[in-house]
Order: sequence, then structure tokens, then C-alpha cells
Amino acid sequence: MIIEIRHAYCAGVLCLSIALTGMLAAANSGVVLLYHHVANETPPSTSISPEEFHAHLDYLKENGFAVVPLDELVHRLRTRAPLPERTVAITFDDGYSSIYETAFPLLKEYEMPFTLFLSTEPINNRQRNYMTWEQVRELSEAGALIANHLVSHPYMLSRESQETDVDWLERQRNELLEAEATILKETGQSHRFLAYPFGEFNAEIQSMLVEEGFIGFAQNSGAIGYSSDFQALPRFPMAGIYARLDTAQVKFNSLAFDVELIEPGSPVTDLESPEALLRFNLNGLSPSQINCYDDGEKLNLSWEDQDDGLLRLRAAKRHYGRRWRYICTGLSAESARYFWYSVPWVNPK
Ligand SMILES: [Zn+2]
Repeated sequence: MIIEIRHAYCAGVLCLSIALTGMLAAANSGVVLLYHHVANETPPSTSISPEEFHAHLDYLKENGFAVVPLDELVHRLRTRAPLPERTVAITFDDGYSSIYETAFPLLKEYEMPFTLFLSTEPINNRQRNYMTWEQVRELSEAGALIANHLVSHPYMLSRESQETDVDWLERQRNELLEAEATILKETGQSHRFLAYPFGEFNAEIQSMLVEEGFIGFAQNSGAIGYSSDFQALPRFPMAGIYARLDTAQVKFNSLAFDVELIEPGSPVTDLESPEALLRFNLNGLSPSQINCYDDGEKLNLSWEDQDDGLLRLRAAKRHYGRRWRYICTGLSAESARYFWYSVPWVNPK
């Protein structure tokens, strides 16, 4: 897809100047990729085949991407330091054995850093299909960043019967701090990075992360930039049909909008078609370049204040499922790359 776009925008010398402009403009954002299994036998919704994973690494190498450690990417964005033109960080959730057996040898061959977000209980219990602590330590010693995916991989928004708000939040805090302590004991690492299990969180959990000094990673798509919410950093899930290189490469090349989510204050909703309000710093993009989608259908957009970049999104359809998102993209005319942002929703009822 991106190749077609490039053809549409490029002609000889003009193409070169477009590419150079894009290089300058792209130095303030990066992309985080989310993988689970790298295997053919595991559930498609959380798996990429070894061949496709190899193709991803090959694409990143051949196209001059800087694959950086996640802590470096986060640090540079938080301190508003410049980044290489195309910057990517690779992450894996859960700690499955196929990462050790299949992904790790390829990552070593390509000399690419990566991060594991681990739930500690399945590893402590030596559960089937999970890495052992010995294997985790081997990856850690080879340079992998080891981070937090809680103890028991809970649905953080679920309450136990009779549980008060205070008890519920303390239970989440205990999951967080116990997993961090176990990872420190087993690997010597503590980065205070959490990947929310199932990508689910709310405003109370985000505040708790701030209190504990944690960065939070979600599972909705989008590039990250200086204005990102650091307790809800998006990652592009790379599994099933989304792992196909033709669509994945558009995401590898995506750029962060300069945007702030005004409403909702929390992704949790019991509405079937909730509204969102965003404030874009358009930085030369015209409002007509921005399109937003709900499950592939165009959302109803109303610019409440174009000078202030205020955009209200109204749903195209009703949602009865647990999780969904609204996705906004804008094609950069300069670099033929897409700005990409999404609003996650969760209805736990
Ligand atoms: Zn997980």
C-alpha cells in the first residue's frame, strides 16, 4: 500500500525532496510493535508465523529503520529529544516459549533489541507454552528489556463480589508491585513499564501508575510522540491478518499526530456509541486530510473549533462487544506516510 502511495507522490527529483522533507518532519515520533506468539500452531488472533516475523525484521532492516530499546524510545519522547527518521521498538506480551525458540534467534541475527512484558504467575507455575525463568534470564543477559504484565494477567477492570473501590484498586497495585519485585529478583531489571493485560485500563488505574512512577502501554494502534499519554501509550498489534507485511509496513512508517484526548477521561463506557473529543495541533495538516474510522466505517466528524483543532467524533455504529476503538489517520503530503491515532473503548459489563 505504501509503495502505491509513494508512486502516486513521487516523480524523479521531486520524490527525493519529498523524502528529505519527510525525514525532518518524522524525527519526533516512533512506533511500538506488539507481538505475542511467533508460531503457526497458536491462536491466529495472537500469533504471527515465523515466516512473516522474519519478513517484518527484513523490511525494517532493508528500509533503514532504527530499532531501538523501548526505554530509549520512551526517554527520548519524554525529554522531547529528536529521534531517527524511522524509529521502532519491538515488544512481546505474556512470555510465550515461541519467543525464546523462534523469535530470539532471528532478533539476534538482525541485532535488534526487544522487550518482554511478562506475567509472573504462569512462569512461576512453569505453565505449558511459557518461557522458564532460566530462559528469561538468558534473553535478559542478551540485552532484552524485561517489563511488567502483572502477576496473574487479570482483567484489571473486573471487580470481585463485594469488593469496594479502594480494595479493587489496592488489588491492582499489589499485582503491579509484586510482579515488578519478582522480575527484579529473577532478572535484576526494573523499568517500571506496565503493559495492561488485554489493553484494558481506566482513569483510576492510570492515576495509580503515576503515583507508583510507572509508564503504561495499551493495545490500541497508533504512533507515539511528545504529546502522547504516557500512561496509555499505543502499540500496533501484529497478529493474524494485521501481521501481513502489506498492511504492517504502513504502520511501521506511521507518524504521531500532535493530539490531546479531551473526552473521554477514561476508555470505560456503557454507551453503545460513545463520542470522543480531540484537540489536534494541526501543524500544517488541513482538517480535510484527517479521516476517522470505526471498524472500517467512516466516523461522523465535526470540527467544533477549527482554529483550536477541536474535533468531535460520533460513532458510525453501535457496539455490543467488550473492546473497540476509533482510529484517526491523516496522510502526510510531504512524506506520504500516515499520521495515526486511536481512541480505545472498553465496556466491561
Ligand atoms: Zn497479555
